[in-house]
Amino acid sequence: MSMSYADVLLPLPLPSLFTYKVPGDMSASIRIGMRVVVQFGKKKLFTALVRNLHNRPPRMAAKELISLVDQFPIIYPIQFAFWEWIAGYYMCHPGEVMNAALPSALKLNSETKISLIPDHGFNISNFSEKEYRIVTALERQNEINIGEAARIAGSQNVVHLINSLIEKGVVEAFEEVAERYKPKTEKYYSLADVYQHNEKALGTMLDYLEKRAPRQNEVLQALLYHLPPGSTQEIGIARSILLGELPHAESALQALVEKGMVIENIQAVSRFEKHAATRQVSEITLAEYQQLALEKIHEFFQNHVPVLLHGITSSGKTEVYIKLIEATLRQGKQVLYLLPEIALTAQIITRLRCYFGDVVGIYHSRQSDAERAEVWNKVKSWDSKKELDFHPSSIILGARSAIFLPYSNLGLIIVDEEHDSSYKQYEPNPRYHGRDAALYLATMHGANLLLGSATPAIESYFNARQGKYGLVEMNERFGNILLPNVQVVDVKEATAQKQMKSIFSQTLLDAIDIALTNHEQVILFQNRRGFSLRIECPRCHYIPGCQQCDVTLIYHKREKHLRCHYCGFHQPVQPSCPLCNHPELTLIGFGTEKVEEELSLLYPEIRIARMDLDTTRSKHAHHRIISSFEERRIDVLTGTQMVTKGLDFDNVSLVGILNADNMITYPDFRSFERSFQLMAQVSGRAGRKSKQGKVIIQTRHPSHPVVEQVIGNNYQGMYESQILERQRFLYPPFVRLVKISLKHKDPAMLDLAAANFAGMLRKEFPGKVLGAEYPLVSRIRNYYIKELLIKLARDATLPAAKQTIARLIGIFLKNPQHKQVRIVVDVDPM
Ligand code: ADP
Ligand code: ZN
Repeated sequence: MSMSYADVLLPLPLPSLFTYKVPGDMSASIRIGMRVVVQFGKKKLFTALVRNLHNRPPRMAAKELISLVDQFPIIYPIQFAFWEWIAGYYMCHPGEVMNAALPSALKLNSETKISLIPDHGFNISNFSEKEYRIVTALERQNEINIGEAARIAGSQNVVHLINSLIEKGVVEAFEEVAERYKPKTEKYYSLADVYQHNEKALGTMLDYLEKRAPRQNEVLQALLYHLPPGSTQEIGIARSILLGELPHAESALQALVEKGMVIENIQAVSRFEKHAATRQVSEITLAEYQQLALEKIHEFFQNHVPVLLHGITSSGKTEVYIKLIEATLRQGKQVLYLLPEIALTAQIITRLRCYFGDVVGIYHSRQSDAERAEVWNKVKSWDSKKELDFHPSSIILGARSAIFLPYSNLGLIIVDEEHDSSYKQYEPNPRYHGRDAALYLATMHGANLLLGSATPAIESYFNARQGKYGLVEMNERFGNILLPNVQVVDVKEATAQKQMKSIFSQTLLDAIDIALTNHEQVILFQNRRGFSLRIECPRCHYIPGCQQCDVTLIYHKREKHLRCHYCGFHQPVQPSCPLCNHPELTLIGFGTEKVEEELSLLYPEIRIARMDLDTTRSKHAHHRIISSFEERRIDVLTGTQMVTKGLDFDNVSLVGILNADNMITYPDFRSFERSFQLMAQVSGRAGRKSKQGKVIIQTRHPSHPVVEQVIGNNYQGMYESQILERQRFLYPPFVRLVKISLKHKDPAMLDLAAANFAGMLRKEFPGKVLGAEYPLVSRIRNYYIKELLIKLARDATLPAAKQTIARLIGIFLKNPQHKQVRIVVDVDPM
């Protein structure tokens, strides 16, 4: 039955769907999940998604849909339901989830154009020189877009110009919607059908060409070489291959096509490099403890219980994953393999391709829009009936946003390094946690869920202890590699005994010497990037700070500037103190860049690389650094968190943690857990098959419990002590946190507004509201920030509590006094 109305979802932060009328010519083809173009607001056009079709006329007159973009739905109903769950759980709007979920290449791009209003009767003397140029261009051209207008007027501020022309009643603006994603195509050639099965005709033609058109003959011979007559390959041979062998033969090929002897057809081709589809490792033999773990996992899966695989570093979790993936592929289902960090994908993809061949799709934010759209379409067109197993894209390896791909039959989700806080999206909405959302996604698909880590999140381990997850442990390292020997250097004592050379203790330098002499590699971990933490005037203690944020600026030596790590603001270093004119400013503290430089002063002959946010901005930077290190073209790798994560190097014998203190002393209820995870993970990079690795931790708190737990590789100890603290002070997993940040440009107004809102919350949630307080960084980009924390019970009352919070925010923002206040809600903040 054809439906007259469509409720559509717009990619905007709006609380509801909007109803449009379906024009008669669209009603036969429109389906839920297709994209449509709609007008929303006065002039704006948007791509929206059809969510419902029905025959109930809305109360207000509905506008008509402008056009239908798709022939087939691009969204499955199950995806809508998933988006709606995310919006509900993380307290945001489904339109915001849609915006995050769809690759931008699939959203249409609305480009403003302008044209002259007919019969405007304008007066030339009214126009500025630049306005005049635009008007005369429009008389010639009918319509131009904003970019062209800027070029014609030779002006940067073209929006201002156009607004002025609109006010004068001369031009009008409208939006044109253009689709941005175009599949990459290539031309293919094959022999015309008439010659395929008629050798005589073919022979005659070749003779003819040999005499009259030798170039064309050559092209045809090459074609026949690749595609003998009667061959079954349908699409033909690619232009790049054919002409690659015969330069300057384009016109001859064109002539053959025009004569109808050769057929040309255009095919969409992949933007990704082709990988050898051959499997290099056909069989993995699991060690006994791995086999046991695998069997236990299967058992839990049979009872539809998610599993936490707690396996120490190098226990071979990846091998167990591979077995589980293979079993899932054999059932003709899809596998999603999530990783917290793009840096990790390169190593894992190589390991998976080695085993499965070219069946792995990758999806993360560093890819181009077009690449993301291509993976989206590949997953969308996945069909288990077509090829039962080893279908390309049956395995998707991705960062958190890969949960949004259009899966139709997920069998398994693996969340590797599940403890990692990079799974949480901080900004903007939806502020979701990839691991927790994956749990829901798995439930929807009836898929198995495996969380893996050497240092599980306290929440996950708690869930496992409670029986909500199955707990499977692997406490051996593959090949019986010994756990590294961890040694602590007391920096206070070393300084007193003059045993520190710049930022390195003599103990660490001696160990580096030994490793280098043995041609082994070293990883040095420093939690901060930049050269030095800050600059200070030794006389008046002036410290340069950011103009827009409440933080000190960090010195970056290579760029010779001071930079704000929150807003990106930067300025050159002053030659003298701007307050007291003292001629020299001193550097205090140190970051990754300084580690790199100091080390190269001590060891001028060795090869050092640095991996942090600053060195990995370009698309393939991670990959380059990691493979150079793997291939031993780098002796020492220094870096931030990025070097701590599940990378597997086989020649690293020493790991140095340069300063454990800034992690341990960070004021947050998770700082001990995080410090343990970071240190245990980076320590796990040390050690080789034949030899025990060494870890050296430099700290001013050598007897701190976390340091001792790292030394003993004592995850349980860390867990037991932390879970008691969490219970005593009511933190997750015993409650759910909702963080509400209020922002305002004026601190006095913010204080007032925050106090008001805190009062409203306390009335509804007595004894459960903390704050409002200034966070550690209390001003970012000129907005002052205050935070409130609400502790909610982890039970069935949670959805109602969230609704109450949403209602209070609505009331609060309606008050004209709070008009300038911005509110951000973060559920399960990290
Ligand atoms: P984890 O992820 O648990 O830290 P990995 O999966 O990276 O550990 O394994 C550590 C190393 O041991 C890797 O080089 C891996 O190839 C090797 N390994 C683990 N299990 C096996 C196995 N069953 N057969 C061969 N090599 C294995
Ligand atoms: Zn700033």
